[in-house]
This record gives sequence, C-alpha cells and structure tokens, in this order.
Amino acid sequence: MSIQDNLAAINGRILQACQRVDRDPTEVRLVAVSKTKPATMIEEAAAVGQQLFGESYAQEFSAKVDQLGTSVDWHFIGGLQTNKVKYLRGKVNLIHSVDRLSLAQEINRQWAKIDQVANILIQLNLGAESTKSGAGEAELEQLLRQVAELPNLHIRGLMALPPYLDDPEEVRPYFRRLRQLAEIMKSRQIPGVELQELSMGMSHDFEVAIEEGATLVRVGSAIFGTRI
Ligand SMILES: *Cc1c(COP(=O)(O)O)cnc(C)c1O
Repeated sequence: MSIQDNLAAINGRILQACQRVDRDPTEVRLVAVSKTKPATMIEEAAAVGQQLFGESYAQEFSAKVDQLGTSVDWHFIGGLQTNKVKYLRGKVNLIHSVDRLSLAQEINRQWAKIDQVANILIQLNLGAESTKSGAGEAELEQLLRQVAELPNLHIRGLMALPPYLDDPEEVRPYFRRLRQLAEIMKSRQIPGVELQELSMGMSHDFEVAIEEGATLVRVGSAIFGTRI
C-alpha cells in the first residue's frame, strides 16, 4: 500500500468512527507521525493533501524542516528535554508533551524571545507507568494553574499515551479517563486554561479514541509503515 492509499484508508476509518458516535468529523484532526521517516515521505503525504505532521525527536525534526521542499504544519509529540526546546521555537503549532513546570517555563522563555505564544497540551501518565513521561492525575490541577500563569504559553488541552494493549477495547477506559479529567478541569474554570483538545489514539487504537472524544489522533506506522 502506498502512503496515499494508507491516508485514504485512515481518513475513511476516522469518518466511520465519527459516524458511529455522531461526531462532526471536522472536530478530529489526523496528525501524521513521521518520526524516523525521511522528508521525501512527508512530501509524498503532503502532495496528496495531508497538511499536519507530528515529530518526536527535536533535532531530527529541526533537520527535517530544513530539508523539506514544502510547507506543512507541525506538532511536536515526543518527550522533551528542556535543552532541546530551542530547536522547536517558532516552528511548531502545538507541543503535545508538556508534563512538568520546568519544561513549560523553558517553552515560555523561548517563545518570549520571538514574541509569540506557544500552544501546548499537558501530557498525562494515566497508567501511572514508571517508564513513561506524563504528569500524574493528582498533580494535574496544580500544574494547570502554574502553567496558566506563563504569559507566552496557551494551554489547549490534554494528551495521553496509554499502555499498549493488544485489544484496543482495553485501552478505552484510559481514553475515557482523559476526557473525564478534561471535563473535571474545565469545571474548575481556571483562568487562561482551554481544554478543547484531546490528543489520544495511535495506529492501532485511534478509532476507539475517536469514539471517546479524541480531537487529535497521532498515527504513524499505519501511514508510513513500521519503524525499525
Ligand atoms: C510514535 C508515536 C505515535 C505514533 O505511533 P504509531 O503506533 O506508529 O501510530 C503516536 N504518539 C506518540 C507520542 C509517538 O511517539
């Protein structure tokens, strides 16, 4: 299957998932995750209408942007060390993976230099998996309140990377929990916090995520093939 065929298939499945739960398909955006894949593949996807891409490694991202012969929209979705934030400055429309105050402060500092506001999501570690990044549920409210104080950041929503489980149905409770947390936090009406985006769902479970309210699905291997 070509990238074009894969994209058509994924977009069709997104549409069907929306129909199953009566959602407006324009609420769901596909983030084509191109990490480890060459710029030529991104150009191929862009040529058939995919405009939004996600990358996970700051330096790889930065190099690829320079190689790319076309203009696309970027989201950064991977774990981020503070000393790498500078590679993203002004180049990404949304950072999905903010899980601690120190990282938010550095993003704020870098975006202040270019007099712009960075859009971010707060990443949660719902499974309390020690190997994964993400803020714990118990720290969420305080983190939102602290990050909301930073003038060059705008909180747009929440992100989660639940455990990989063979049966996507088993991941459903995690997606549901992320949505529930967003609702709870919205009801707190924290000034400067908007939580309309829910980034959840990957190649093997994005349809379940859409059924549970995802607005951003991050799909890599189902579009570009498996990564080595
Ligand atoms: C790699 C990655 C994805 C995409 O995973 P696939 O299983 O290839 O769809 C999604 N989200 C994050 C955070 C990733 O690092």
